[in-house]
Amino acid sequence: MGDPEMSCCGTTTTSHELSAPHSGDLPVVVIGAGPVGLAAAAHLAERGIDFLVLEAGDQVAASTAKWGHVRVFSPWRFNIDAAASRLLEADGRSAPDPEWLPTGAEIISGYLAPLAKLFGDKVRLSSPVSAISRLGYDRVRTNGREDVPFVLRLADGTEVRAKAVIDASGTYETPNVLGANGLPAYGEAEAADLIDHALPDVLGADRERYEGKHVLVVGAGHSAATTLLGLAQLSADTRITWAIRAGNASRTYGGGAADALPARGALGTRLHAHVESGRIQLLTGFYAHSVDGNTVISRDPSGNEQKITVDRVVAATGYRPDHSIASELRLDLDPILGSTRALAPLIDPNQHSCGTVPGHGVDELTHPEPGYYAVGVKSYGRAPTFLMATGYEQVRSVVAALAGDWEAARETHLDLPETGVCSSNLAEAQEIRVGLATGISGGLLAAPLPLATVSASTGGGCCG
Ligand SMILES: Cc1cc2nc3c(=O)[nH]c(=O)nc-3n(C[C@H](O)[C@H](O)[C@H](O)COP(=O)(O)OP(=O)(O)OC[C@H]3O[C@@H](n4cnc5c(N)ncnc54)[C@H](O)[C@@H]3O)c2cc1C
Repeated sequence: MGDPEMSCCGTTTTSHELSAPHSGDLPVVVIGAGPVGLAAAAHLAERGIDFLVLEAGDQVAASTAKWGHVRVFSPWRFNIDAAASRLLEADGRSAPDPEWLPTGAEIISGYLAPLAKLFGDKVRLSSPVSAISRLGYDRVRTNGREDVPFVLRLADGTEVRAKAVIDASGTYETPNVLGANGLPAYGEAEAADLIDHALPDVLGADRERYEGKHVLVVGAGHSAATTLLGLAQLSADTRITWAIRAGNASRTYGGGAADALPARGALGTRLHAHVESGRIQLLTGFYAHSVDGNTVISRDPSGNEQKITVDRVVAATGYRPDHSIASELRLDLDPILGSTRALAPLIDPNQHSCGTVPGHGVDELTHPEPGYYAVGVKSYGRAPTFLMATGYEQVRSVVAALAGDWEAARETHLDLPETGVCSSNLAEAQEIRVGLATGISGGLLAAPLPLATVSASTGGGCCG
């Protein structure tokens, strides 16, 4: 503070003269009231640090609510943060069956909504953050930067100041595009009414949109498989076409009876059987290039075209983070995944399934911008290997660091047995317990693909 700083055109200013109020008394602002944002709030509450959670949706966990019909593959014991659990227990709530696999909706009603209630008006709904900067500092200005508050601009134009920002805004609102090369297919924006992103509730609330229609599902990951198996249960006049870039669907089918994960193999076998029987028509080598009316046109790298005319399209092509709200902050992003560079090798889907990601915390999540941390599924960028449990460990560590407890911050530990969380065995067991007719729980389909073949761009490795 107080060092002369050269400004444009030869004049000097003193950052001390222009410096903003010290940020010490301000709250830590958490962006997003999803599982990880609310876990951050629980840790902040436990450590007595003032906080405010800003949630874009009109309910907590608005993104989870959108896939509320999907049963997750990790049992309750991995889905509840330890600090949150302590707070809920102190409030007299008993924990759910630790081995049960809840749906997204059950995660909200049985855990996140009661947790948010404990925080009262510290969780502010309908408050989308549109941009973050530092008071009086654009991205270029350095001297004294770490001492001034963050400024968060909300969509309604109001501003909130913070001493630190924990960005747990997820990736669900920014799905990957339909276009095969990562750019939107020509005409994709104009065809928005034709295209749904993963994971529509084809057997429930969205049934009418699909039953009796011709539906094209694009993507080779588990979201695509989930949707396809759901569609296959609709009336026989529902036509289903599945389009993938690869030359065959062996990656999605898995190893059948020889698969290291038996239930995944069984699922792949089921999907394979639908393709063999003709219930699902498979188009391989399909590179979505343009959308013209209801026709999706593929143009492969050699210029060969395929065309298909349908009533609806489901783009199950994964998710990507939106770092634009932090564009005035100093981020150091991995060029492939869009996570921090330190985190990228730990979550690389070419090396890891969600169950083999090592515990990590504040050190791996630190950007050059002091006091800003992207956590949760957003921290993973395009890597599809995220689990709530890893996010809970992230925020435990980050909040410990914000509290100045560096010993706790650096003592990262994560207990994620690879089988039992990422394997589908548990989901299969529960399917038997509850007698699910569909056999398409998210968990069953969220088992990791063989490590070497998971694509970072398709979102196929872990979680839908
Ligand atoms: C279908 C599916 C199944 C999954 N199954 C599992 C599983 O079995 N086990 C597991 O561990 N993980 C699973 N995951 C992965 C992951 O754990 C979840 O996606 C989890 O919800 C991520 O939590 P999060 O808090 O990081 O982000 P999100 O849950 O995406 O929450 C982000 C929140 O931020 C809000 N928000 C977004 N932008 C803004 C903004 N600008 N301002 C304010 N608020 C904003 C959103 O409305 C949302 O409430 C699954 C994911 C999906 C999609």
